[in-house]
Amino acid sequence: MTFDPEKLVRDNIRRLTPYSSARSEFAGRAEIFLDANENPFGSPLARDYHRYPDPLQSKIKKNLAAETGLDAAEIFVGNGSDEAIDLLFRIFCEPGRDAALVCPPTYGMYRVSADVNAVRTKEVCLRPDFGLDAAGIREAADSRTKLLFICSPNNPTGNSMRRETVLEIVRDFRGIVVVDEAYIHFSREKSLVAELRAHPNLVVLQTFSKAWGLAGLRVGMAFASREIVALLNRVKPPYNVSEIAQEAVLDALENRAAVADAIAKIIVEREMLAERLEDFPFVERIYPSDANFLLVKTTDADRLYRFLLDERIVVRNRARVAMCLGCLRITVGTPAENARLLESLEKARSINL
Ligand SMILES: *Cc1c(COP(=O)(O)O)cnc(C)c1O
Repeated sequence: MTFDPEKLVRDNIRRLTPYSSARSEFAGRAEIFLDANENPFGSPLARDYHRYPDPLQSKIKKNLAAETGLDAAEIFVGNGSDEAIDLLFRIFCEPGRDAALVCPPTYGMYRVSADVNAVRTKEVCLRPDFGLDAAGIREAADSRTKLLFICSPNNPTGNSMRRETVLEIVRDFRGIVVVDEAYIHFSREKSLVAELRAHPNLVVLQTFSKAWGLAGLRVGMAFASREIVALLNRVKPPYNVSEIAQEAVLDALENRAAVADAIAKIIVEREMLAERLEDFPFVERIYPSDANFLLVKTTDADRLYRFLLDERIVVRNRARVAMCLGCLRITVGTPAENARLLESLEKARSINL
């Protein structure tokens, strides 16, 4: 397949002269930096943060490259994967003219990002089993449909999409297919990162916010062809990931074993919770989960939601989301948190909620 992302790019982006930062113009060795208007005395903080961070996050990318088998030029690092989502809209979708395709029920940011950028969204709902409607997607796509978002494992339904179906859609779709793997580390399925080189219109998103436990730092990544990554780098703000965030992410990457440990614990807790939740009379169904949350269909989601709030436990009420009617989305917590949740649910049972 010959696929040239340049052909999909907005005219203003194709013509863009990107901002050239002091830190990106000079890459050699120097001792005295008088190029970026920083305060040379540093800050009152113990750590030194008075220099601008690496605009291309090269240490993080080197580490991720070794892990994924990709080249650093095939990796984009952003201020959360939400930044990558927004950049894809700004690069590829002409406001008021182009469209993006989403498959609800799914992550709300695709739609919000489209709306912010004045890009139309077309919806092709998941099938009743929460699988992808490949035929519906093919039918809905046209030459103005630049982006297609597939979330796998999907938020809020928790299931992974069938790999072969996703790849068929990627081969068929003429725009860019964004596969959001925010929850991949909790999944039985393998990442699609290994498929990138065979599929030049594929973008895979991952994040440090979930399994890595670094949501507060705001770091996410996009894996894609070097052409697409070059476009993301052209359009992003020059210093989009702070020094503190870069240092902490690097630390985490160098301590993978601890992260793997936490993931294993969360999966054990997920299965325990799923089993225990079955018992409650107000629980109608627990959907199988490949993520760190459970979608739970209840007899009266609003009531249960409010009851849990009174117990000072907050879950996500998805009761009014199409195809998730009556559902709560419950994140898997620590063993102590999950025990508290179960205790409160016992209390709900005892008052016949
Ligand atoms: C949580 C989540 C993200 C993470 O976004 P960040 O901006 O990286 O924190 C991305 N996609 C989905 C589907 C999510 O649920």
